[in-house]
Amino acid sequence: MTFQAPKGTFDWLPPRSEQVLAVREALVAPVRRAGYGYVETPVFEDTQLFARGVGESTDIVTKEMYTFPDKAGRSLTLRPEGTASVVRAVLQHGLHTGQLPVKLWYSGSQFRYERAQRGRYRHFWQVGAEALGAEDPALDAELIVLAARGFSSLGLRNVTLLLNSLGDGNCRPAYRAALQEFLRGLDLDDETRARVEINPLRVLDDKRPEVQARLGGAPLVADHLCAACKAYHEEVRALLTAAGVAFEDDPRLVRGLDYYTRTTFEFTHGGLGSQSAIGGGGRYDGLSEMLGGPPLPSVGWALGVDRTFLAMESEGLLGDAAPGRVQVYGVALGDDARRRMFLLVAELREAGVSADMAFGGKGLKGAMKGAGRSGARYALILGERDLAAQAVQVKDLTTAEQTEVPLARVVEVLKGKVQ
Ligand code: AMP
Repeated sequence: MTFQAPKGTFDWLPPRSEQVLAVREALVAPVRRAGYGYVETPVFEDTQLFARGVGESTDIVTKEMYTFPDKAGRSLTLRPEGTASVVRAVLQHGLHTGQLPVKLWYSGSQFRYERAQRGRYRHFWQVGAEALGAEDPALDAELIVLAARGFSSLGLRNVTLLLNSLGDGNCRPAYRAALQEFLRGLDLDDETRARVEINPLRVLDDKRPEVQARLGGAPLVADHLCAACKAYHEEVRALLTAAGVAFEDDPRLVRGLDYYTRTTFEFTHGGLGSQSAIGGGGRYDGLSEMLGGPPLPSVGWALGVDRTFLAMESEGLLGDAAPGRVQVYGVALGDDARRRMFLLVAELREAGVSADMAFGGKGLKGAMKGAGRSGARYALILGERDLAAQAVQVKDLTTAEQTEVPLARVVEVLKGKVQ
């Protein structure tokens, strides 16, 4: 029996793995240009960090965490999201005592024990950006614009930005009570009724059609925002409009995590079916305090790399042509020629030319097949007779044209050709 990757996980293999690396880079390029610094946190953390930081009533914490005791009996959890870890790191290292906002980005695996389906995995990849320690609508707008730029730089067109405000400690309690009263009057299953008591806003986020059908007359947070939250939200909207970023107001947008306040947003893609969210985020002014830190109003997002990739596929943006693995491929015949080729490919790589060679003692035919598969533009053919003449045959694989080049000059010649 051979092993399979665990349920809900999959492998990225060439050439798609190369393409997904490029997608990750493109998604974070805008935040890097905006001065966000790279942060890398552990893949596992104290379970309590997520229990408190993500919220005890969320699906993530109640059902989806990969939690295990280590050998000393500590309860650890594979990270289901990035924000709690970033806030923990900022507090632990006192970054918030320096210049504010602290601007950070990350990229990495996340783990959630979800019902696996296309676009929903148990191990997936997010890139994220967080700006901590400032309450400024321009910061919310900046992050939204940067995420939108990341998607548009990949050529994605079928993206919708949904925007909402959840209010703050001032106006949300009254809204929460009004919503709770409405929800208590509905015919809901026991689990949902329990949720009404713990976190009624999240009922709005319930994706089940039978629940959505009952929510028709639910009070909307937009009608309950206090003057300060309303002004803040209007400013975010105005800045987005000025920046040319289109959005739709979605008064039902709540998102699954407990820590959001004021601005929340989600990017969805029209080509993905039910798992349409390709990224989302919002303001989380209360999270630092929930984790035992000082007040640290903050805003951030996480973008789903796997789903962004699927979105690109659905828009035909990935192309079928496998990108060339290397630019030059060496084919040597005979032991001495093989030893010389071994040094030659190393010299080419040193000179900045990507190069590979045939391994495993293949004959000319097999080795040339390898050259073709490598995607290289040039094959270098070195036989015993070439070696004696201190020369090598350079074959352009697109035209089949072959020229003889002195070994002493071949690195220079190829450098000129491929650059
Ligand atoms: P969240 O941390 O839940 O706000 O998710 C942010 C983004 O990560 C989503 O918009 C998705 O693109 C992606 N994402 C979340 N959960 C999964 C999953 N189970 N599989 C793949 N992508 C996911």
